[in-house]
Amino acid sequence: MLGPVILAASRSDKMRRFVSAAPGTKQVVARFIAGETVDQVIPVVRDAAAKGLEVTLDVVGEDITTPEQAAAARDAYLELVEHLEPLDLGPRAEMSVKLSMFGQSLEGGHELALANVRPVVEAAAAIGTTVTLDAEDHTTLDSMFAVHEELRKDFPQTGCVIQAYLFRTEEDARRLAANGSRVRLVKGAYKEPASVAIQDKAEIDKAYVRILRILMEGDGYPMIGSHDPRLIAIGQELARSAGRKLDEYEFQMLYGIRTDEHVRLAAEGHRMRVYTAYGTDWYGYFMRRLAEKPANLLFFVRSMITKN
Ligand SMILES: Cc1cc2nc3c(=O)[nH]c(=O)nc-3n(C[C@H](O)[C@H](O)[C@H](O)COP(=O)(O)OP(=O)(O)OC[C@H]3O[C@@H](n4cnc5c(N)ncnc54)[C@H](O)[C@@H]3O)c2cc1C
Repeated sequence: MLGPVILAASRSDKMRRFVSAAPGTKQVVARFIAGETVDQVIPVVRDAAAKGLEVTLDVVGEDITTPEQAAAARDAYLELVEHLEPLDLGPRAEMSVKLSMFGQSLEGGHELALANVRPVVEAAAAIGTTVTLDAEDHTTLDSMFAVHEELRKDFPQTGCVIQAYLFRTEEDARRLAANGSRVRLVKGAYKEPASVAIQDKAEIDKAYVRILRILMEGDGYPMIGSHDPRLIAIGQELARSAGRKLDEYEFQMLYGIRTDEHVRLAAEGHRMRVYTAYGTDWYGYFMRRLAEKPANLLFFVRSMITKN
């Protein structure tokens, strides 16, 4: 019940101001956000690499309103690439981007987002790594897949995300699995209407398994984006029965969530990538994490009361 309310609040400017100014917010945000600056996130990347983990780095931010902000987003990622280069981690440190942060929803947004993301993909390739395009709300996906297809002409390793809760996703998975893409499968984190998305959690899980089977049996590179123990076990089983070796798929989880599991899967020889978000515009990302687990909200409210 609480999840949809929190997701609705994630779109409210009034709530953004309230939550951002609330005492105790910083402490709770720090669980999910690895730092505010690139200098703060680099030691986190080093630490993850030392533990045998891989990362995908996300500069938080979305729904920007001017072309200047979109250019600033591009520059923030280019700055990140400069800082990653000396670490020499290659594909073990990749990047995740939201096209809305690159201008997708502005006038001429599709072309603008493509123009802004391309130099980031080029810079990533120059240091031996790549970029994955996150999936945002369903209205943005045709444009995201078109950008993905365009980028893959020059950079075939560019990845994208598909969301199990959407009715369209099985078809997207078939197309992407056939063309050999890197594809992260997630349950889906946005508030979507019943006209486009499954609403029942158990049905979303079933769809996740059906879609994961398509990816595993196809000729792409599946990235299992989930913390759900049951889906992780099923993922391992599907990979085995599709005859995939340990380096022919990977697990992905979010920074700050089920961290013991990150280390356990890596110790078992799996490729385990931690989605590591950093930056100052954390509100949308943070609210989606609260919505996924209402217990996080209780923790948040308690920390506000304690600070007062
Ligand atoms: C690497 C990665 C990238 C993602 N990228 C996208 C994307 O591009 N687009 C998109 O729509 N969604 C994205 N998501 C979010 C995803 O859609 C889900 O909302 C999120 O992963 C929760 O689903 P779950 O599969 O972990 O299962 P759930 O059933 O939600 O969770 C399983 C268990 O994991 C733990 N858990 C899950 N979430 C939390 C949390 N926030 N706080 C504390 N514990 C938690 C709990 O123990 C829970 O019982 C991404 C998720 C991951 C892991």
